[in-house]
Amino acid sequence: MDLTTNYVFDAAHRIAGHPGKCAWLHGHTYNLELTVSAPSLNPLGMVMDFDDLRDVVKKAVLDLWDHATLLAADDPLGPAIRAVQHQAPDRVVLLEGGQPTAEVLTREAWTRLERQLPAGITLERVAIRETPSCGSAISRPLT
Ligand SMILES: [Zn+2]
Repeated sequence: MDLTTNYVFDAAHRIAGHPGKCAWLHGHTYNLELTVSAPSLNPLGMVMDFDDLRDVVKKAVLDLWDHATLLAADDPLGPAIRAVQHQAPDRVVLLEGGQPTAEVLTREAWTRLERQLPAGITLERVAIRETPSCGSAISRPLT
């Protein structure tokens, strides 16, 4: 049986080298939706407690990305913004996996979430939307 939850976070990003407006630093209110499953329900009739899942998502993704600037690891803006925001260097997240596109963020979120889910809980789907109409998703089996 599946359990689906939804979260919102705000972050800035840019796609360095993009030929259009995505090259300029801007922000989104991102929507993160995930689905997990378990082979059977626990004694309370749940796949897992929503609060426990929120704690996992908070630790794996939201604490890291909410109100952060998400950039490719080699983006020269990274060191510049960290210098200006020297009180909170962790609010600039440099992604080793590439540009902070919805696709790369979805893949990063999948990796981070899968690592932190409790035993017996399987990650089935992660979707991240930059806007209500544009986003990316990964489902098991990974596609
Ligand atoms: Zn954008």
